[in-house]
Amino acid sequence: MDFLQQRLLSVRQEIAAACSTANRSIDEVTLITVTKNHPTQLVLDLLELGQFDFGENRNQEAEPKAAEVLANSNFSRSSYRWHFIGQLQSNKVKNVLEYADVLHSLDRESLLESLAKELPKKQRNLEVFIQLNLTDNAERGGIRPADLLPFAEKVLQVPQLKLQGVMGVASLDGNLETDFDAIWRASQQLRTLHPSATSISAGMSDDFEIALRHGATHLRIGTAITGKRQY
Ligand SMILES: *Cc1c(COP(=O)(O)O)cnc(C)c1O
Repeated sequence: MDFLQQRLLSVRQEIAAACSTANRSIDEVTLITVTKNHPTQLVLDLLELGQFDFGENRNQEAEPKAAEVLANSNFSRSSYRWHFIGQLQSNKVKNVLEYADVLHSLDRESLLESLAKELPKKQRNLEVFIQLNLTDNAERGGIRPADLLPFAEKVLQVPQLKLQGVMGVASLDGNLETDFDAIWRASQQLRTLHPSATSISAGMSDDFEIALRHGATHLRIGTAITGKRQY
């Protein structure tokens, strides 16, 4: 068994164990492998290993990679999904819509406006998560939990956007339990407005077990599966 297969298997086992500890069903958890800073071949290898959700955070890298996967894989386009998880510039929305199935980082009004403009032109829908800012620093991307519901109301006015839930990254200096609990509470609030927005995108290589205890449904895991990023 090669290195990648081993890492993938062991992360899947850790997820299963954490779910069972947290008394949760593994069926409600999606593992997104973050392939940023790795070559296209890694995505092709992961597809062969039965991993079908991929995360990227920069269009400049993701756009050519998605095209190469499309050209070089035997898997049909509908069998795998690209998740855009990084900060997205409004002028790149057009490009990202060429390949992304899900956007985890809807974090501001100007991005919402570009999406509302571009999606009808492309005649397509997009699954989105609203990204939360858990810090006191307004410069960091994301919607403050206190502003979540008014922002979500605007998202719901765009019929092409399918609101899945909230996304958060634990703050570097904060307490992980507090941060993931804040994400969970924001999610509960969102569900009062839009009951089907049950998803929580939270948890990375170093903290996914804690995130799972706080209700995470979409784990974004890079290094633990792919090894150190290469560039
Ligand atoms: C890179 C990245 C991840 C994955 O981080 P790892 O620590 O490598 O698991 C998750 N989420 C976002 C938003 C990222 O940019």
